[in-house]
Amino acid sequence: MSTRSIRIALSKGRIYDETVPLLARVGIRAQEDPETSRRLVIPTSRRGIELIIVRASDTPTYVQHGGADLGIAGRDVLVEHGGEGLYQPVDLGIAACRMMVAARREFDYRLAVRQGARLRVATKYVRAAREHFAAKGVHVDIIRLYGSMELAPIVGLADAIVDLVSSGRTLRANNLVAVEDVMPVSARLVVNQAALKTKRATLQPLIDAFAAAADGGGRPGKPGKPRKPRKPRKAAR
Ligand code: ADP
Ligand code: MG
Repeated sequence: MSTRSIRIALSKGRIYDETVPLLARVGIRAQEDPETSRRLVIPTSRRGIELIIVRASDTPTYVQHGGADLGIAGRDVLVEHGGEGLYQPVDLGIAACRMMVAARREFDYRLAVRQGARLRVATKYVRAAREHFAAKGVHVDIIRLYGSMELAPIVGLADAIVDLVSSGRTLRANNLVAVEDVMPVSARLVVNQAALKTKRATLQPLIDAFAAAADGGGRPGKPGKPRKPRKPRKAAR
C-alpha cells in the first residue's frame, strides 16, 4: 500500500512558531525553515509526512478539499470557514488569544447598546461578529475588512471592531479599549473527514500523538467538541 505522503497544512508566523515544539514532540522536524525557504512543500524528518505552507485563513479549505490530510488553524479561522468536511479532534492550546469587541475610548459602547443604536462594526471575522451580536439582539452593520481593523474607529468608518487581542498593546497604541468578549481563541488540529476514514491506520496515531504533545491536556475527543483551551505555554505576540 503506497500512497502519497501525509500532508500537514500550516501557516507561517504565529501558528508555525508555536507548532514547531509540538511537531518536535510528535517526532517531526521540518527539513527547511518555511520562514526563509520559498518552498511551499517541505519534507520532514518523518518519511511519508510533509508540510505544506498556506495562508492562515486557507488552512481549513486545503484540508476540507483533501489538499492536506491534517492542518492547524485558529478557532477564529475555523468559525469563519464553517468547519464543513473537517474533524476538529484536538484543541492544541497554542496561538491563544481572545476575540473581542473594541471601540474608541470616548465611545460609550454600553450606552449605545442600551439605547438600541444600530452599530457599525468593522471586522474580518464577519460570521463570528454577526453571530455574536445576533445572540445579544444588537443590530449591526458589518463592514468587512482584511486587516488593520484598529484604524476603522479612528477614521470614523465604524463604531467598533471585532478583532483578536492578546497583550492589548495594539489596541492601546490606537486609543481603543476592549469592551466585550466574543470568544476565546486557540489553534486546533483539523482533519479531512474522508481521509480519516480511508487512512485511519496512519492518521489516528498521528492525531493521538498531537493530542499527547499538546501536553497531556489535549486528548482526542468527539468531532466538533474540542476540550477547553488551557493557558498558553508562552506569551503570544
Ligand atoms: P494572518 O495575519 O495571516 O491572519 P497571523 O499569524 O496573524 O496570520 O494569525 C494566524 C493565527 O494566529 C490567527 O488565525 C489566530 O488564530 C492566531 N492569532 C492571531 N492574532 C493573534 C494574537 N494577537 N495572539 C495570539 N494568536 C493570534
Ligand atoms: Mg496577523
